[in-house]
Amino acid sequence: MKTGYTHMRCGLIGEHLGHSFSKIIHEKIADYSYDLVELELNEVECFVKSKQLDAFNVTIPYKKTVIPFLDGISDEAKRIGAVNTVVRRKDGLLYGYNTDYFGFSSMIDALGIDIKGKKAVILGSGGASLTVNAVLVDRGVREIVTVSRGGENNYENISKHFDADVIINATPIGMYPNNGKRLIDLDNFKNCKAVLDLIYNPANTALLLDAERLGIPHINGLFMLVSQAVKAFEFFTGDSAEDGIIDKISRQIEFDTKNIILVGMPASGKTTVGRLIAKELGRQFVDADEAFEQMHSVSPKDAILTLGEDEFRRMESITLSSICKESSLVIATGGGAVTRKCNYDTLRQNGTVIFLRRDLSLLCTENRPISQSRDLSELFAERRPYYESFSHLSIDSTEIPQKTAELIIEKTRSRIEEQNYGGKK
Ligand code: NAP
Repeated sequence: MKTGYTHMRCGLIGEHLGHSFSKIIHEKIADYSYDLVELELNEVECFVKSKQLDAFNVTIPYKKTVIPFLDGISDEAKRIGAVNTVVRRKDGLLYGYNTDYFGFSSMIDALGIDIKGKKAVILGSGGASLTVNAVLVDRGVREIVTVSRGGENNYENISKHFDADVIINATPIGMYPNNGKRLIDLDNFKNCKAVLDLIYNPANTALLLDAERLGIPHINGLFMLVSQAVKAFEFFTGDSAEDGIIDKISRQIEFDTKNIILVGMPASGKTTVGRLIAKELGRQFVDADEAFEQMHSVSPKDAILTLGEDEFRRMESITLSSICKESSLVIATGGGAVTRKCNYDTLRQNGTVIFLRRDLSLLCTENRPISQSRDLSELFAERRPYYESFSHLSIDSTEIPQKTAELIIEKTRSRIEEQNYGGKK
């Protein structure tokens, strides 16, 4: 973190900032104060002209609104028609920049693809789409198609562009809390070589999970968000950022926000170990069986016995959808959660999934109707491929739960530190 800036007051203005990551990011970049300021449209002019902040970022929906209140804007901001960084210069004049341009450019570099000469489809025609368009033009993309609900290229005639090489989502579709939604069927884009989604919450939108399933290199918007913030720091202070800071902060935030989700046989220690992981990391622990009971007013055991396993599994999927879209949780799932295909995306959208393995002879079956009604080795043989395909990591449950918890934290952190952005590891 850069020090020496405690005298500076910085921040972010926008309409709804409850879910913004900007404060967390800026507090990792430098020691200035960084406040989130929610404004109504009629308050923007007065705030910009006041001297409440020395420098600030601007987000939805005021990136255009602020322009008339500034004394000058950079060429990039002029070209894109949006300002996301405002600096009060030493001479008192207010100057606007667009650091999203740098952010999206860094996102392409992080994915490591060469887009020169390619055909790109951008979903959405808002402010972010204009930034993406400017970067793509400068990178020598052959053809850029902007798909817009009311435009010439829209979702009804998108089949004309099934030959696209690169797809960029610049809409809010799939963003928390509306996880799981997507605008296009990626299976139709047979030439697609890269998918970039500007959304960062959840870490994997439905579109990115489709890309992963199809083996297409992909990346979410976190790297862009951190990159634009680091560039903003440089404009705020006139200083240059530390080497590698974008990568470092992106990985820290990914670790801090992604859920840690335990799957495995009933009684393999998911709840005990999950609680210890949560305590160690200062996170909230969620037992999916308890969440089930709270949500449906019936225990999983009674639901299985009275409604049958199929109905129980359907209700369990609803519970998992609701908890797994949240962030920074440690979640222990029921032993059979992996048997429903739809839970794959639910678990992996925003979490590192850990298969907790334990010797079958040590598994207690008391109070567990499915374990009691089946031969355990048969049940395990049936479920094992699912545990393996759902999980990012497999960890043996040791006889000391604290040790297992520490191992899971260490492996989860290393996995995030070692992964290539855009690559599946
Ligand atoms: P915006 O100005 O509100 O534009 C979003 C565009 O999405 C709209 O112009 C619209 O395009 C399309 N859209 C909105 N609702 C839709 C719906 N129900 N169905 C289909 N299309 C819909 O927002 P923005 O500033 O461009 O941001 C877009 C996304 O990028 C947001 O999710 C934002 O969080 C993200 N973003 C991320 C970063 C980052 O650093 N990672 C930076 C900027 C933005 P049409 O009307 O043309 O269909």
